[in-house]
Amino acid sequence: MSDALLDVQNLKKYFPIKSGLLNRTVGQVKAVDGISFTIQPGETFGLVGESGSGKSTVGRTVIRLTEKTAGEVKFKGVDLYQLPNEELRKMRPKMQLIFQDPYSSLNPRVRVGDAIGEALIDHGLFPAKEVRERVLDVLNACGLSSYHIDRFPHEFSGGQRQRIGIARALVLNPDLIIADEPVSALDVSIQAQIINLFRKMQETRNLSYLFISHDLSVVEHLCNRIGVMYLGSMVETASRNELFQNPLHPYTKALLSAVPIPIPKIKRERIVLKGDIPSPANPPSGCKFHTRCPLAVAACKELVPEFREVGGNHFVACHLV
Ligand code: SF4
Repeated sequence: MSDALLDVQNLKKYFPIKSGLLNRTVGQVKAVDGISFTIQPGETFGLVGESGSGKSTVGRTVIRLTEKTAGEVKFKGVDLYQLPNEELRKMRPKMQLIFQDPYSSLNPRVRVGDAIGEALIDHGLFPAKEVRERVLDVLNACGLSSYHIDRFPHEFSGGQRQRIGIARALVLNPDLIIADEPVSALDVSIQAQIINLFRKMQETRNLSYLFISHDLSVVEHLCNRIGVMYLGSMVETASRNELFQNPLHPYTKALLSAVPIPIPKIKRERIVLKGDIPSPANPPSGCKFHTRCPLAVAACKELVPEFREVGGNHFVACHLV
């Protein structure tokens, strides 16, 4: 049995396209098209790709906020999709999701302390009289002060709201946090503070993260391993150092070429991809990347490249590698 905290195998999520008076299914959007990865306890796995690559759908499907089409998701060895609703409800505190915009998930009329504590009460995890104390502990751990507990969401800045989002997740003492573009809407200096908070929480609580981002420079600071998605498929996974020093897939190389280098003397050639990401309702044949790949050969149009290990736990899907 795998000792991974999260084990995702061949996960697929297709959304039906309905049309006509009878609302018939006329096609499918293949948002996630058979991806596999694992996350070990205390590990951060980064999932990167352009907007439309399917990475957010992976996050939601992994914790059953959206039902899968096929595949397997095991959390601590338990198949989440085989769990009855009541058992899944008991498991939920252990897997928490943090959104890009925490403001939209906060009720503007509910004080922050109540918003953080309500999940504790819902799940019956703490006696009611101890909830406030627990909320104060978590607020302080997230860099907020005791007086914030009775404030309303509109009284906070963007960075503080994200701290509230993190506190809401942490109060349930989870093992896994799925963070979906958690710093994308923040200024660079605030991004650094929030990333440091994620790191500190991981060190003190042995948390695991699935960190979803379109920005490789953000993922670089936090992740142990990184998976690169393109049009619903995983095209490359490797440790952070391996991926940054030895990227093999042309799509990964293009993404990396856009990451700024702090040493001005080192020059990296920028690879600009042609066109936009194609529609997942009608993905290209063969290698899905062939319509934009600068290295594509004739076979790429016909044959789907195998996602295979090229050594040292480095996996890539490309005919030329
Ligand atoms: Fe490019 Fe072909 Fe490799 Fe796909 S299989 S990434 S099209 S070279």
